[in-house]
Amino acid sequence: MPYDRFFVDAIAQLHAEQRYRVFADLERIAGCFPRAIWHAPNGQREVVVWCSNDYLGMGQHPSVIGAMSETAKRLGTGAGGTRNISGTSHPLVELEIELADLHGKEAALVFTSGYVSNQTGISTLAKLIPECVILSDALNHNSMIEGIRQSGVEKRIFRHNDVGHLEELLRTVGRARPKLIVFESLYSMDGDIAPIRRICDLADRYEAMTYLDEVHAVGMYGPRGGGIAERDRVMHRVDIIEGTLAKAFGCLGGYIAGTATLIDAVRSYAPGFIFTSALPPPICAAATASIRHLKVSQVERQNHQDRVQRVKAELTAAKLPVMASDSHIVPVRIGDPAKCKAASDMLLAEYGIYIQPINYPTVARGTERLRITPSPCHDDIMIGQLVAALSDVWHQLGLPHESAACAAEIRDHRAKS
Ligand SMILES: *Cc1c(COP(=O)(O)O)cnc(C)c1O
Repeated sequence: MPYDRFFVDAIAQLHAEQRYRVFADLERIAGCFPRAIWHAPNGQREVVVWCSNDYLGMGQHPSVIGAMSETAKRLGTGAGGTRNISGTSHPLVELEIELADLHGKEAALVFTSGYVSNQTGISTLAKLIPECVILSDALNHNSMIEGIRQSGVEKRIFRHNDVGHLEELLRTVGRARPKLIVFESLYSMDGDIAPIRRICDLADRYEAMTYLDEVHAVGMYGPRGGGIAERDRVMHRVDIIEGTLAKAFGCLGGYIAGTATLIDAVRSYAPGFIFTSALPPPICAAATASIRHLKVSQVERQNHQDRVQRVKAELTAAKLPVMASDSHIVPVRIGDPAKCKAASDMLLAEYGIYIQPINYPTVARGTERLRITPSPCHDDIMIGQLVAALSDVWHQLGLPHESAACAAEIRDHRAKS
């Protein structure tokens, strides 16, 4: 049997579609984010990272690093097993209390990643609700889609952020049947925001439960970093909030928060919780330090938004096709997979700027883009260099400049999906 051939063919297919992915070999420099060392084919070189989801640079915060190293010295490295065997450590218990408090919920449950929390959280919840129907936003993240698939329950997809369509679907399912509405607060590829309040209104009217992924908002929005739902004062109306410790909190892990009973049920039934080793104590302690810091400190959030506004304004002034975004995500449209990769390669090799190309299937074909994520650590000089480099690359590759047209096109694309 030519087993190797199968894999060779699969990889060739990706090359043919121009979406074979290559990772840059980087070492971020703690204390100097967003600077990193790039291990290039021809030697090492310093670059500036413009696409990290460590949005606030908390991965280099002294108190977060301090908590991690101090806890490793005291408690050692690993968790020692699954929570059911011997993996529950005191830092993990403290972390869950911190998370429940962050979202104003009775309890929280930590998983090894945000991906796992969605996959096993949604599938377990839906299975525990008899006759459950899931209503899911068309642009939900793969981890939510896998959770829905794994639950095996009936699902209905509503058009992205379209409350009219959601209501239509809720009406057809009817009030009597249990329903779970699954959606995100901030969609990370377009940077647009869900109408959480209106979705909660519908949930009330049709007696549905709500499950909200706040992965791209926790730490960054709301007076204590509770996310968009906190900012919009609707956090108490969402039944289950899911988040990650790996993006703005700069660590690793995921969680859900909700009522004590719901959390206890997921804890007791979720395979993705029961059969995998717990998060190591040093990571739990670091995440707790990061959350605690961002609950009281506004400076990271303020500087973050300030940097984002400046990047958007400078890119727009340079007539680069910035896609309209309501948040800290700054997508710049290219619309072609080969050119998107070429632009990314040129930025890295010629300008020392690292921005990963975003191609299908992460985004729809024809909407390939560079996704820029400014952080509080990007200074004015870096922003100036970014805009100059992008302008050069746009010129060299003959890329389009019109931004209003492409924003409309992206909207059409979304409506159709
Ligand atoms: C990144 C991401 C996740 C997964 O979180 P991890 O902690 O990275 O596993 C879940 N949902 C969304 C919307 C994401 O972008």
